[in-house]
Amino acid sequence: MEEYVETLKCKYNYNEEMISFLSKLLPALIQYYGEENKEKILTALLNCEIHEQQEYENPKEYLNKYFMNEKEWDLPFLAGAFYHNEISVHGDTISAKPIIYLKTKYLMGCRKFDFGNDDSISILVHEICHLVKGYGKVKLENGKIVDSTGLSREYYEYDSETETLKEIGTDNLGLEEALNSYDEAQVMTIITGIPHECGGYKGMSKVASKLMEDRNLASAIKKSQFNDSVDWIDYLGKEKAEKLSLNFDSWCKSLYFPLEDMFDDEKVKQKHLIMNRAISNINEFITEHFERQIINEYPQGSQEIILKRKREMERQQMELNPQIANFDQVLENAQNNQVK
Ligand SMILES: [Zn+2]
Repeated sequence: MEEYVETLKCKYNYNEEMISFLSKLLPALIQYYGEENKEKILTALLNCEIHEQQEYENPKEYLNKYFMNEKEWDLPFLAGAFYHNEISVHGDTISAKPIIYLKTKYLMGCRKFDFGNDDSISILVHEICHLVKGYGKVKLENGKIVDSTGLSREYYEYDSETETLKEIGTDNLGLEEALNSYDEAQVMTIITGIPHECGGYKGMSKVASKLMEDRNLASAIKKSQFNDSVDWIDYLGKEKAEKLSLNFDSWCKSLYFPLEDMFDDEKVKQKHLIMNRAISNINEFITEHFERQIINEYPQGSQEIILKRKREMERQQMELNPQIANFDQVLENAQNNQVK
């Protein structure tokens, strides 16, 4: 592992703080995602620069230079970091190059990335979790270009005349964001040795942690996230998987809306209605899912256990609701956009 970290250091000219962070992170990632994914994790980090914005650096100019193109970038305004996988098409060959970009410049001026701050590290861990589940996955499928990160899939069409890619659809973005935030918290807990919550998407991550209590589902999800398989859909059934995915998408989308809409009461109300409906559907899904499991496990006398579980679910939902009702996270995400 030391040799590997030394290679990373030489390749990307990482400073001592980054190297010390990666030396702690790598064993944690492998422990969490499993030895079976070790090679994928190491290859992903070997082929992705983690770039810290320099004092006078314009991110858009840096990205165009890095990817050798001339694009208009729609970058998250406030997010501390983002992961991006740039797809390119040359004849019949499709390839992709990733980057993790750490933003250091805000309205108040330049603030160096703080490796001593768990909240900052957590943001970076989140993006690295996206990377390791997304590296080397771009492919052609039924004439469309598909790129995936974990369970999420993005579909593109390539226009050979203008040499541009057009996004034509996505699947499971919200669900993967929830799961990735759960991963972030778990990996942070391993690194720091103390229970950790994720920085963003707190409510979604809490609900994802409920799902992961079903160990069989958790293992099917992990397999699908790394191997691009449909194990998790097979496990839940197509209809249930779709219900879960669409509701997480609604929830996630409702966390993002343009700043100008923040003062439009009607739009804010609509967003909250959509969000609360999605959350209530997901809670219903989880209650049903675990009820069925209990019935399977305890076919006799399961009523009492079900009732107990239901009450527990209701209590958890009550805990979640005040958090959802406040605007903090909505505001926090309002200025971010589609770049993960
Ligand atoms: Zn994310």
